[in-house]
Amino acid sequence: MNPAEWLQRSAGNAPGRAALLLGDTVVASYGSFAARAAHLAAELSGRGVAPGDRVAIFAKNCPEYLIALYGIWHAGAIAVPINAKLHPREAAWIIGDAGAQVCFVTEEAARDLAVEPGAEGCALWSLGNLPAVSEGALSAPHPTLPQDVIWLFYTSGTTGRPKGVMLTALNLMLMTLSYLADVDEVSEQDAILYAAPMSHGAGLYNFIHVMRGARHVVPPSGGFEAAEVLDLAARLGNVSMFAAPTMVRRLVDAARVRGGAEGLKTVIYGGGPMYLADIVEAVEVMGPRLVQIYGQGECPMAITALSRAEVADRSAPNWRARLASVGRAQSGVRLGILRPDGSPAPVGEIGEVVVQGALVMAGYWAGQTNGAESTAKAIRDGWLWTGDMGALDADGYLTLHDRSKDVIISGGTNIYPREVEEVLLTHPGVHEVSVIGRPDPEWGEDVVAFVVCRPGSAVTPEELDALCLANIARFKRPKAYFFVPDLPKNNYGKVLKGALRDKLKEETA
Ligand code: AMP
Repeated sequence: MNPAEWLQRSAGNAPGRAALLLGDTVVASYGSFAARAAHLAAELSGRGVAPGDRVAIFAKNCPEYLIALYGIWHAGAIAVPINAKLHPREAAWIIGDAGAQVCFVTEEAARDLAVEPGAEGCALWSLGNLPAVSEGALSAPHPTLPQDVIWLFYTSGTTGRPKGVMLTALNLMLMTLSYLADVDEVSEQDAILYAAPMSHGAGLYNFIHVMRGARHVVPPSGGFEAAEVLDLAARLGNVSMFAAPTMVRRLVDAARVRGGAEGLKTVIYGGGPMYLADIVEAVEVMGPRLVQIYGQGECPMAITALSRAEVADRSAPNWRARLASVGRAQSGVRLGILRPDGSPAPVGEIGEVVVQGALVMAGYWAGQTNGAESTAKAIRDGWLWTGDMGALDADGYLTLHDRSKDVIISGGTNIYPREVEEVLLTHPGVHEVSVIGRPDPEWGEDVVAFVVCRPGSAVTPEELDALCLANIARFKRPKAYFFVPDLPKNNYGKVLKGALRDKLKEETA
């Protein structure tokens, strides 16, 4: 199934219905969205782009982003969305790795990319200047097969070079249907708001909203501004959005000031750990609007979900424990916890989270990073090894601990930074925190914490130490605290623990 066929069906059902909006201004109806995508496909084919060829997009969120995506799929090509926040050099590397023939860009990105080696040979097409629709019959969408790759999803790469995850039409179809089964209902009255990069998780939610003929809204800022999101939600109504945990925090602060989040239907959060203290506060301020998902590029958006009711129902006896989990397996996957030797871990034991099912990627793109070798490492014995450490409880709820490489081993005992971070964050003066291991001649590693305080609050190491002593085993307490103005993050807002380790090395050198 080609996603362009979903677009055609929605256009056929209601050609005049609003499809693409910039803020609250409609810039294309479904009829015009589908026609422009089909026309763009013809232009791409005219330039020699054949089914299976790669076409990149390096642009900030804009309504034309979706026309480009659907034009690419209509032609049977593979879309390579690149995070607009990447350095042009990094984007050029991805273009070269994917062997993209064409890259859709904004004017500004075009200037930056043109001077980078790696992108030469790739035609830069301006999104601000897409061809107008002309008269004449247009071809039908390419008859894409389930196993055809349609999206090359470059991982966010908190370490090393990003890898191109090959996502097939079947992967994305299953992800889309899982949304209906496990996350939320969607109707043509709804709107999806793209406040996080469309190249990543937020963009993956376009499919279900195209399938249902809903509105696609890009905020005029092209990014995430909490006040803008709440204003738009109030004006448009029935707005859903994907938000990383840092965005949820800012949304909650803004909603508290306004006294609510009128018009906001669902905030799907995920992509990184949501700390218990933060989600409890979010539920207090926002009410039953939050759903959590856990996924990764290699198994997009649909490994587990914690439903709206589970997030919001404070009367449930184990509400807090559930909130600290990422929920239960979504419908399309089998979930397991394995020990390093591949044997299953019993209930409650921490091991590596593994996933099986038709949602798992076809593999990594061969490119320059030796895709076959990386694929063989990631998919073993029929399971995708996610690199995340976690434990399942007797009811099937998964609690994530840390990425396997972030686990601290001190005196032979595993310490999961997240557990220590959760405790430190309950201090009212602590805004953000990240816990890492520091090499120690005696213990192998000891625990240290980087702490960002809330403006105007003075937090002492003694207070934090007392908090840890009251809540977790002594050996898990940080041996040192570093108070910093902010934490290093990648372009998706994920904390770069590697950069913190480097900083530590510099300070102790
Ligand atoms: P990416 O492939 O860039 O989307 O990153 C996926 C990784 O983000 C996962 O392997 C997890 O480590 C992390 N992640 C995603 N969703 C969640 C979640 N709900 N809670 C905690 N971590 C998450």
